[in-house]
Amino acid sequence: MSTLIACPKCAWQPDGGAYWSCSCGCVWNTFNTGGKCPSCGKQWKNTQCIPHAGGCREWSPHLSWYHDLDDWLEEELNDIHVPIEEDT
Ligand SMILES: [Zn+2]
Ligand SMILES: [Zn+2]
Repeated sequence: MSTLIACPKCAWQPDGGAYWSCSCGCVWNTFNTGGKCPSCGKQWKNTQCIPHAGGCREWSPHLSWYHDLDDWLEEELNDIHVPIEEDT
């Protein structure tokens, strides 16, 4: 069973590119790491849709991007402790 990853607002599907940048300057594909910066370890609660790649620019909760979640993956993601700070 595969998991579909798509923007919950416009249904844009990430193509595997490194479109997300952290406040530490790292640029990576956030869906490879479940929203966690591989450089500084910051857990991003919300994920932005990427307008220059065809998306809508809106922010959505990272988990909302996953559709048809496998049970094990859902458990895995629920284990992530999300900091309460805002992603601004
Ligand atoms: Zn970072
Ligand atoms: Zn979108």
